[in-house]
Amino acid sequence: MKEIKYLIIGGGIAGTTAADTIRKNDADGSVAIVSDELHRLYSRIMISKPSVFLEKVPFEQIWLKEEGWYKENNIEFLSGKKAVSLDTKEKIVRLDDEEEIKYEKLLLAIGACARRLPVPGVEKKGIFHVRILEDAKDIMEASKSAKKAVVVGGSFIGFEMADLLRQKDIDVSMVFNTENCWEPALDKASSKIVEGVLEKGGVKIYGGQEIKEILDGDKGKKVVLKDGTELKCDMVVFGVGVSCPHDWLKKALDVKRGILTNEYLEASASDVWAAGDSCEFKDTIIDDVIILGTWINAQEQGRTAGLNMVGQKQAYKNVTFYTTRGFDIAVAFVGDASQADDRERVVRVDAEKKISVQFFVKNGRIVGATTINRVPDVQVITKLIEKQIDISDKMEELADPSFELKKLL
Ligand SMILES: Cc1cc2nc3c(=O)[nH]c(=O)nc-3n(C[C@H](O)[C@H](O)[C@H](O)COP(=O)(O)OP(=O)(O)OC[C@H]3O[C@@H](n4cnc5c(N)ncnc54)[C@H](O)[C@@H]3O)c2cc1C
Repeated sequence: MKEIKYLIIGGGIAGTTAADTIRKNDADGSVAIVSDELHRLYSRIMISKPSVFLEKVPFEQIWLKEEGWYKENNIEFLSGKKAVSLDTKEKIVRLDDEEEIKYEKLLLAIGACARRLPVPGVEKKGIFHVRILEDAKDIMEASKSAKKAVVVGGSFIGFEMADLLRQKDIDVSMVFNTENCWEPALDKASSKIVEGVLEKGGVKIYGGQEIKEILDGDKGKKVVLKDGTELKCDMVVFGVGVSCPHDWLKKALDVKRGILTNEYLEASASDVWAAGDSCEFKDTIIDDVIILGTWINAQEQGRTAGLNMVGQKQAYKNVTFYTTRGFDIAVAFVGDASQADDRERVVRVDAEKKISVQFFVKNGRIVGATTINRVPDVQVITKLIEKQIDISDKMEELADPSFELKKLL
């Protein structure tokens, strides 16, 4: 049986950063990455960005590691192999080709999968989900000849895909099942700003709608909504959220939405860590157990997990953010911008100027925020979260667009 000192499942940014960090701190210990994808590390972010999608840069820019990097760093890269079971007592991971690997220390950096709706017709040709490199290539190819597209989902991926398809002059209809787009992450006023720019950009919106089926016949495709509306199209792109592919770990570890860890990213069995989109971790800054789906978080957790695996006990403490642009607006998410029963939403909005900032406040402290066309606020909000500043007597100011946030620091 193969024996590996540091075994990493998942070759995305979290797993690869962990491998890099381990190698920099332990020159000799064996390191292996198991990845069910076939490729070396690439930028998942660029899949849905104009640079790659609209071919503004050479496709090669998507690669984040040279082919030779793994060998040069003595990191075994087991690509096209899937981990299917974990025995934490014997410290063995079994792969889908029956190979078993014994580990000393294990990192689970298995990311997330695009959620699939159980809609009849969803597996047909020309229906896409957006997560891996092959998805990007397939969507780019289909968009070369498509005249009409339906985007299902009114959040991050739906917004970015609608923007890219419109830039290719494709007629876009957007369908989402919530009342307003990008719910529940955005409050209603902010959603309305986004819907306004989508419509101005030529997107037809079908909000509060569900899909009954997708038909594909001689006369092309049709997305049929539950109210009977039929949307003719050449391609359909789904962006309806993600789920963690952790079924195979449920017997071995504590999992919920992701793999549960403490602030050191240690899972519920000894010598097992988790990092990135698959890690549901104890965030000591906002005093909550959260799961994030952002690149910087995955990278920094990979680094922290790697350090912990080589014996440098380090808590993960970071406030991360991500931004996107489309339809002439900039949208940003800071910290943990998600709703929970113990969180209050405070919104400052100037609909005329298409500006909004929405804060999630827990126990008098900001734990997350969304911004539209207020990129400079992102740094200030990051600091407000990091410093755990008590704003309980400043709620009115928080809701006032003319109040300068910097004054709260
Ligand atoms: C289209 C798109 C655009 C995005 N844009 C942004 C953005 O602008 N900004 C931002 O901050 N974030 C963005 N994100 C999110 C960001 O890409 C993720 O947060 C980040 O890639 C997570 O990294 P990860 O290493 O945790 O997981 P992943 O990148 O998902 O990597 C996990 C890897 O593990 C593999 N794997 C899973 N299970 C197994 C198994 N059992 N055995 C072997 N291998 C397995 C997966 O196939 C995958 O290759 C975007 C995501 C997508 C899909």
